[in-house]
Amino acid sequence: MSENICYSDAYARETDATVVEVDPDASAVLLDRTVFYPGGGGQPADTGILVAGAGGSWRVTGANKRGDDIWHAIEAGSELPAVDTAVVAELDWDRRHELMRTHSALHVLCGVVWRDHSASVTGGNMVPLSGRMDFEFETMSGDLVGEIEKRVNEEIAADRDIRVAVLPREEAFAIPDLIRTKINLLPEGISEVRTIEIVGLDLQADGGTHVARTGEIGRVNVTGYESKGRINKRIRIEVVAA
Ligand SMILES: [Zn+2]
Repeated sequence: MSENICYSDAYARETDATVVEVDPDASAVLLDRTVFYPGGGGQPADTGILVAGAGGSWRVTGANKRGDDIWHAIEAGSELPAVDTAVVAELDWDRRHELMRTHSALHVLCGVVWRDHSASVTGGNMVPLSGRMDFEFETMSGDLVGEIEKRVNEEIAADRDIRVAVLPREEAFAIPDLIRTKINLLPEGISEVRTIEIVGLDLQADGGTHVARTGEIGRVNVTGYESKGRINKRIRIEVVAA
């Protein structure tokens, strides 16, 4: 199982690591330790570079999980590093930080829509600096969307703390906010649940990487909304500098 620092420290941009295994067919490398987010929960996988102290570097075009291991996809056509090579694994930090701001912005949106309209989330997706969320939100309208944008930016300006925790399964399943966000969809086998709390606004089971305070998000503009059926509605946002 590879250690992934990103789950406890989203601001870690690089780590020393050793190549544990290589998969030439998939052009992929397994390290003993990494900072690369492997994708999931709507947040895309990180990109970056592996640099060997003895010379040589490899472009990382993505990452993914196989069981508990995080494999790094290496640009096709590169000769892979040998097993036991010491490398520094380094993120494309600007892109990752944009994804952190975007992911946290989407949680602020969820929190506001739930607090003000009791509408729960059914799905979402993001790329750096833009994203969408789907809600069970029968009464959504253009007027409401303008109001939601205003409230979201108020919560960002309030500079709320964003905290990561890992809770035993039983404890997590006893928290009403987590049940609302469909924690019951998590696989049966897991014994711990990682949570992201925007203090005073939102609490979700979540595997992603987030900024430490809402003020770091910047500003959110609602760029569109659409009906995906009588009940299901989609809200699109972009994240810009404050
Ligand atoms: Zn999330």
